[in-house]
Amino acid sequence: MPVELRKGGLHVSGTPLWLDARRKSELSFVSHAHTDHIARHERVIATAATLRIMEHRLGPLQSKLPVPYHRPFRLGDLDVELMPAGHVLGSAQIRVTRPDGHRIVYTGDIGFEPSSTAEPASMLACDTLVLESTFGMPRFRFPPKERIVDEIEQWARRALSRGVRPILYAYSLGKGQEIIHQLHARGLKVCAHPSIHEVSMLYTELGVKMNVRRFEGTFDEGEVGVFPPFGKSPALKEIYPKTTAVLTGWALEPWAARRYGADIAFPMSDHADFPALMRCARESGAREVITVHGFAKDLAKALNAEGIFARAVTQVVQMELPLAADPGQSELGL
Ligand SMILES: [Zn+2]
Repeated sequence: MPVELRKGGLHVSGTPLWLDARRKSELSFVSHAHTDHIARHERVIATAATLRIMEHRLGPLQSKLPVPYHRPFRLGDLDVELMPAGHVLGSAQIRVTRPDGHRIVYTGDIGFEPSSTAEPASMLACDTLVLESTFGMPRFRFPPKERIVDEIEQWARRALSRGVRPILYAYSLGKGQEIIHQLHARGLKVCAHPSIHEVSMLYTELGVKMNVRRFEGTFDEGEVGVFPPFGKSPALKEIYPKTTAVLTGWALEPWAARRYGADIAFPMSDHADFPALMRCARESGAREVITVHGFAKDLAKALNAEGIFARAVTQVVQMELPLAADPGQSELGL
């Protein structure tokens, strides 16, 4: 089994290497700096941008190995290479080639829509593909990003022309910077919650220039607000009149706006939609696909229906094992 699911996350069998381990490990590849992918490992393999954002979130790291994209290196008897994942700035996929020539690709979170703030994702050839499945259901087909941003711009301009403050809810790493960049390019002024502003300043430091003002309690004339979807600033309560929109792939679900406490939802995502995930699996030429996160079972089913051998690895599968008295302790081959 090329990859195992252990208590701490995914692990490359017969090697010391973890993939986005969820708890402290001796050696882990970190695909990007979203909080559900990072931990204070003893040694970390990641891009320089991911390491920089990780340290912003976790404090100084013990031992880090910054790796540029497309620069293969040796790790013990493995050949390892990082390639862009198109999800957030610095996000990477990893390809591990074993001594027997077997190539394993782990995508991490991946997005194929063009982005102005993240490096474009590569399609990678491999034998075993570990593919994220956040939106791995056929009903998740996102409109082109350009069209969604058009709609967001029109929505914001309409609100401003009526004297209403448009507030966008977007994650503080990735989506926040992408919408700030896009709106600025379209001539709109943006003011962001400090958590989003701080990451934006890191983006500028890392070479993606961001034009955005830090929110200090009030807005200037003509500004669009960008805030994180959860833990909203209490100061927002004082902003009136306002209208709110959340940016999320879940916008395709009827409950999305309400769930995020917004007036409207736009389907802007930094994850691949279902057709893009299927294409990624097909073009990899992989003999086996392991689907992880989100709709892993549905994506595996759709791939199998196309004749691509695939299986889902989820916590649910782990808990269904009759021998696993404590599912958290079991170690599964995938
Ligand atoms: Zn992510």
